[in-house]
Amino acid sequence: MFEILAHPAVSGLLVMGIVGALAYKAHFVDISGLVSAFIVGFTIWYTGGVSAFVIILFFFMSAGIATKYKYKVKVQKNVAQEGKGKRSWKNVFGSGLIPMIFSVAMYLTRLSPDLAAVGWPFFLFGGYVGAVATTSADTLASELGVFSKSKPRLITNLRRKVPSGTIGAVSLLGEGVALLAGLFIGLLAVSFAIFTPGWVPAVTTTEHVLFLIPLAVLTAFIGCNVDSFLGAAFQNRYVCEICGAVIDKEFHCDYETKYIGGFKSFTNMHVNFGSSGMGATLGILLGAGLFVWILGGLFFWIAASSSS
Ligand SMILES: [Zn+2]
Repeated sequence: MFEILAHPAVSGLLVMGIVGALAYKAHFVDISGLVSAFIVGFTIWYTGGVSAFVIILFFFMSAGIATKYKYKVKVQKNVAQEGKGKRSWKNVFGSGLIPMIFSVAMYLTRLSPDLAAVGWPFFLFGGYVGAVATTSADTLASELGVFSKSKPRLITNLRRKVPSGTIGAVSLLGEGVALLAGLFIGLLAVSFAIFTPGWVPAVTTTEHVLFLIPLAVLTAFIGCNVDSFLGAAFQNRYVCEICGAVIDKEFHCDYETKYIGGFKSFTNMHVNFGSSGMGATLGILLGAGLFVWILGGLFFWIAASSSS
């Protein structure tokens, strides 16, 4: 009996059943979101193990709670998610598909002794953590950053103050939340590596453990800002002629908005794909130990942009 329960397919179905029922009851997802979360969650549980699953569960739960947090105030400010804050399949796949692909890839490289010997499972785990850290940072920063006391600024022109909820708007509060989200995910991964190493099969050396926190914090911070930048540069944008906010919705303040730019077929889902892919790529590089390069490059970039 216990042997059957210990099989990852059986335990995965059980865990996903419980988590899915709770998430649906808490109105975190609609039916399409529930089905897609089941697919993403089960695949990650089966291929990435308990640690990878708990990491994405943290994203899923914290995003759900942050979306519900002061939802009525957000509705008044016109920054609330549609559908009473329930996430649909577009949200779930937009943030879960890339981590799921990395989890499967990590599983496959663990089956190959040659690839495992040169460290591929950990590089891919780095990509996994990078992708989840990016989407967590992005979602939490936008859900909580709207409560910033000072007006946010546009990431493509930091001198310009914009209404809260504007595509590409960034605030100090949002940036702080992004860093904390990364730190929390890093701490989760490290705790598994230290206390239940069997649950994080990709983490095999002390170096790996030391890499995890900086990897999660850097990918969260950089990925979240890449997301704002991609949104501001490419996403379809509409201006609300009532409050002046630039958003991705065709209705705002009860009136139709005016299309002002961006690629019409480039939606928030594509932006999320782009930034979590970027976070994953960065995660692989950091996982491969390229900290010195990346930090050096960042230093160079900051030095170059502050002198111009
Ligand atoms: Zn408006």
